[in-house]
Amino acid sequence: MSFLSGKRILITGIANKLSIAYGIAQAMHKQKAELAFTYQNNKLKNRVENLAKHFNSDIVLPCDVSHNNNIQLLFVTLSKIWNKFDGLVHSIGFAPKNELNGDYVDTVTYKGFKITHKISSYSFVSMVKECKTMLNPNSALLTLSYLGSERAIPNYNVMGLAKASLEANVRYIANSIGHKGIRVNAISAGPVRTLAASGIKNFRKMLECYKRITPLRRTVTIEEIGNSAAFLCSDLASGITGQTIYVDGGFNIATINELL
Ligand code: NAD
Repeated sequence: MSFLSGKRILITGIANKLSIAYGIAQAMHKQKAELAFTYQNNKLKNRVENLAKHFNSDIVLPCDVSHNNNIQLLFVTLSKIWNKFDGLVHSIGFAPKNELNGDYVDTVTYKGFKITHKISSYSFVSMVKECKTMLNPNSALLTLSYLGSERAIPNYNVMGLAKASLEANVRYIANSIGHKGIRVNAISAGPVRTLAASGIKNFRKMLECYKRITPLRRTVTIEEIGNSAAFLCSDLASGITGQTIYVDGGFNIATINELL
């Protein structure tokens, strides 16, 4: 029996086939979830519509989370197709490129700080606010974080602060809506070469470093992140909420092997 059969899940954040959200959609589709998708802007519309076909979905709706009214409109439109649903994957992050290159104190700006937090953290709770009455009991919400939330990682800069805020958001939302039987978690993923990651200076070096230090001696794939996401959004994970789960090959527990 497929462990997501009968579940309707909305997936945000597909930009292309390399996106973590694409790996999540693959895993959820394999487990027989019914999927709907959002796209950020008209440039991505056709591409996301075509990718949605890989998952037998023709529910593809616009949503640029930098505009609160887009989020409201998204759920008004979705409610005409799905009266109720069972899961939301928030796989959205953004920081202006100049914030992801150089010394943190020198590069951070108020404008960059604000936009990074709005898109990468506030948008998650903003979506939950708008859709919570549409969520069935036993629904699950999921977002994507990174270790830069708790360690100072070169060039990750203000995005690390936004991920710390996002992880706190997960705990507060979990506490706020847990009584409805709805769970909320984050996956802290190891580095994967995607469009968003390409904006971080020296990302290739970061991948090489991971391969040397990680217990598994390799980076993780979007399929592996997808499988964990499918589990967390299923009833198999019914006792797990408010958590940040690492899918990073164990990097977060590693000693720096090569220095010892
Ligand atoms: P990606 O570029 O494929 O996906 C990022 C998505 O965010 C895109 O689909 C983009 O359209 C969307 N987005 C950005 N601004 C938006 C806005 N204003 N409104 C709506 N959507 C918007 O890259 P990805 O690596 O798959 O990123 C997905 C998530 O995973 C992000 O939160 C990222 O921080 C997180 N993450 C990535 C890595 C990595 O190494 N790639 C590691 C850990 C966590």
